[in-house]
Amino acid sequence: MIRVEKLNKFFGDLHVLKDVDFSVNESEVVVLIGASGSGKSTLLRCLNFLEMKDTGSIFIDQNEIDERKENLNLVRQRVGMVFQHFNLFPHMTVMENVTSGPINVKKTPKSKAEREGKELLKKVGLGDKYDVFPSRLSGGQKQRVAIARSLAMKPDVMLFDEPTSALDPELVGEVLSTMKQLAKEGMTMIVVTHEMGFAREVGDSLVYLHDGRIVETGQPKDIFKNPREERTKEFLGTIL
Ligand code: ADP
Ligand code: MG
Repeated sequence: MIRVEKLNKFFGDLHVLKDVDFSVNESEVVVLIGASGSGKSTLLRCLNFLEMKDTGSIFIDQNEIDERKENLNLVRQRVGMVFQHFNLFPHMTVMENVTSGPINVKKTPKSKAEREGKELLKKVGLGDKYDVFPSRLSGGQKQRVAIARSLAMKPDVMLFDEPTSALDPELVGEVLSTMKQLAKEGMTMIVVTHEMGFAREVGDSLVYLHDGRIVETGQPKDIFKNPREERTKEFLGTIL
């Protein structure tokens, strides 16, 4: 569904992504791990063109996406993203957060957007919070609203950038189980996380990024049991 070939990204002189080759198939869950600063967020941001790559190719469904030619809004509709810090609109209710994309970007009629928004909010366990403002929600609830908001655009792929890292430990589970349910329903997902239980249980493949390079890829259980690369072993030693 998404394929990346020889992707390179620089910030000034800093070479952040180095010849990254990577792909995710339909309904697959890829878990991306790596130390802080290894380029995980930059890779996700390149995939939905929040950052522009310098060289290399990005294909979605076999079509190469060229940032100069393509309608980037369309790509961003197909590729949803959930951030560590939720990024909800604070002055909008939960329902307004969830429906603003469909209404403003996709020109969905408000009544339809709200009907679908209700379904999505029920699905993430927030059927009683439509009219609440984000400041009244816990971190776990905010993140579930952020997931519902992203799903409201009916994306083909969802990117998650450390969705539980900002949460109190007791709130991590509710967000992970929402993501697990989404995976079960067949959503294609790329997930940056340090939750190795989630990786093992839900991940179809694990990608280890070190200093902007993909060092190791494989099934999570294989990599946990028997990492091929010394650097992977060291990294797993610091987080497991
Ligand atoms: P990770 O998500 O794995 O922690 P990032 O992709 O955020 O890593 O960052 C990779 C490297 O790129 C880091 O050295 C970071 O400081 C740098 N970087 C990230 N974003 C920018 C930016 N907008 N401008 C300059 N440097 C950046
Ligand atoms: Mg990051």
